[in-house]
Amino acid sequence: MRGERKMRRLAGMVAICVALGAVPALAEPQRVAEHDTLNALLWMQSSAEYQAAALSAYAMARAALDRALADPAWTAALEQDGGAAGKPPAVILDLDETVFDNTPYYAWLIASGAPASAQTFSDFIEEKVSPPVPGAVDYMKYAASRGVALFFVSNRNAALKATSLEALAALGVKVGEENILLKRERRDWAVQKGSRRAVVAERYRIVQIVGDALGDFVDDYGVTIRRRGQEVRSHADRWGSKWIMLPNPVYGNWENAAYEYNVKLDEQGRRAEKLRALVPWK
Ligand SMILES: [Mg+2]
Repeated sequence: MRGERKMRRLAGMVAICVALGAVPALAEPQRVAEHDTLNALLWMQSSAEYQAAALSAYAMARAALDRALADPAWTAALEQDGGAAGKPPAVILDLDETVFDNTPYYAWLIASGAPASAQTFSDFIEEKVSPPVPGAVDYMKYAASRGVALFFVSNRNAALKATSLEALAALGVKVGEENILLKRERRDWAVQKGSRRAVVAERYRIVQIVGDALGDFVDDYGVTIRRRGQEVRSHADRWGSKWIMLPNPVYGNWENAAYEYNVKLDEQGRRAEKLRALVPWK
């Protein structure tokens, strides 16, 4: 009680000092730099709803995996040609925002005012502080317990391979170097992931793909919002069973599509295009 009284007295004193102009008032909202990712990051880091969405996606994945294993004709990858039935099953997962939650890095960009860069992102990944996305660990362990091989197709820099293996091992997921296929590890492994999915499909029956971006499932050549939407709808029968999408409102080609990848635009120009992409009531 004494502590409470003291706090009240202190608050009263601060109010009087502010009124007299003796101490500066708190920063006004307009002095805080604007970041388009603020709400998205807050949602991912603090909302119960994000956790529930991720858990739901992985629960759906696990249920569908049982059906996939019971059906030898079931294949998930567009790159899988005929003759998959006799091959051992595998699932392909993306890493960032699918297995690992890297929002502390993006929150740091806001807190520090630092520009995003490949170097600081690598520094962050090297520290191995990203928590797992809710549901990811249980799903991977369940798949492994059912004899399903785990492959990771990620656009992380190839120099992050050892770190990625260590971070997975820390989650209890032990895989070999050959199970992680990173961007440009081979000359034909570009940003598009199809050539890497094809490599896995040579020896395995890919029964499920889990990701947070359209390009984790199909080579994402769509530069317009309309084209990307058409692509998603053309594979409507795969979503929720063969293809499992995690939410990522922080970054992705969905944002680039809003300004049609016009790299000449600065931040303000991009924001203007994003505003133009909205569909208002009237
Ligand atoms: Mg990702």
